[in-house]
Order: sequence, then C-alpha cells, then structure tokens
Amino acid sequence: MKKLIPCLLLSMLVLTSYAQKPEDTEDWSRKPEKITPGKGSLPPSDAIVLYAGAGDLDKWESQRGGPVQWDAGEFLTVKAGTGVIQTKQSFGDCQLHIEWRSPSEIVGEGQGRGNSGIFLMGKYEVQVLDSYESETYYNGQAGSIYKQSIPLVNACLPPGVWQSYDIIFKAPVFDETGGKESAAYITVLHNGVLIQNHFEIQGTTEYIGPPKNNPHPAKLPLALQDHGNPVSYRNIWIREL
Ligand code: MG
Repeated sequence: MKKLIPCLLLSMLVLTSYAQKPEDTEDWSRKPEKITPGKGSLPPSDAIVLYAGAGDLDKWESQRGGPVQWDAGEFLTVKAGTGVIQTKQSFGDCQLHIEWRSPSEIVGEGQGRGNSGIFLMGKYEVQVLDSYESETYYNGQAGSIYKQSIPLVNACLPPGVWQSYDIIFKAPVFDETGGKESAAYITVLHNGVLIQNHFEIQGTTEYIGPPKNNPHPAKLPLALQDHGNPVSYRNIWIREL
C-alpha cells in the first residue's frame, strides 16, 4: 500500500502532462495591429511625425509660450537665447526616434560644445553634446542620462555629421498620495548602438543637486533644449506605447 500511493500519483502526473495540448498555451487575446515599418529610419505608419522638415512647426511651441523661434527648414536648429521648445502634445510611455547634428564649426569645449538635450516629459534629459573629441564629466557627455548615468560606450560621430537616438521610455507612475509607485526607465541606442540599457531614472535630471521626484501627470510634452549652441534636429517621430 505504501508503494502504491506514490505509484498512483506518478501515473496521474504522467497522464495529466499527456492530456496537455499545444493550444493550451496559445494566446489569442490580442491581435497585433498591422503597421507598415518605415524604410531605414523613416517613421512607421503608426508614428506621430513631430518634425519631417520643410519648416512645419505645427506640433511645437516655445516653452515660454508662443511660437517657436528656432530656425526651421529642412532641419530644426537651436537659435541661441530663444529658449526651450516643446511639443504641443503630451506623451508618457513612448518610442522616440530623433536625429541631431552638432555644429561642424567647433566652438568651445566640454559642456559648451554642441550642447542641447532631449527632455522626456520635459524633465528627464538624454544629453546631446559633441563628445567626439571633447571630454567632460562622463555622466554629462552625449548619451548620458544627465548627471545620473554614463553611456555604456561613446558612439559619437564627428561634429557636423548626423547622428541618431532611438529611445524607449517608460514614464514614472505616482500614487494618489504623491509617492512614486514605479520609476521611469530608459533605453537608448546611439547610432544603432545600445548605450543605456533599461536604466532606472532616479528622478529629474538636475544641473545642481540630487534628482527630484515630485509627482507629475502621466503625460507631459517632450522638450528640446536651447543651451546656446546651434545644434540641429531632423526626422523626429514618436510612437505612444
Ligand atoms: Mg544638455
């Protein structure tokens, strides 16, 4: 009898596993929407095109209010002193493609050479800087999450050459009491090379002092920094996730 029970249990287990079918683990709950991928780095059919060239600033405004003062044509170029620009639409979790170019004429060094920045939710900066042959603190060079995370490698191209960032961003979530329920995460590819791998963002990217974690809405505008250097942008598109 003592031997019979384990024997029975074993045969039941065998029978159960035989009773499982391939379709038991098939998931038909959500049919992925069919989209058309873009050629190369061009936007896929479901992307929101934020800047395609031709001076169309429909989707942008100055952070100070009013229209964008940057030079807008085939490219969008920072006009020093005119201020940060931001999208009229707000975004949370997203995939962002953006191309940038630091000026071919080298002026300044460190943080003063080709500085701009991409601010997810207007708060979390992926640094834009000419870090090709110019050194600064490593958590402030191109591709850093400013003052928080050094890029895995320096994938910079020379000044005057177009470069790309592909960013996958998960927005932070705050609970009703204002506490941070879950952190923001970011993955960045620079010219196709992984430089930030699912980094947990510590809070806002501050120039001085530690990151801040004040609660904010689930969606906020995407912003581009005016740091006084004529950095250009093109082919900007975003997909909400
Ligand atoms: Mg910057």
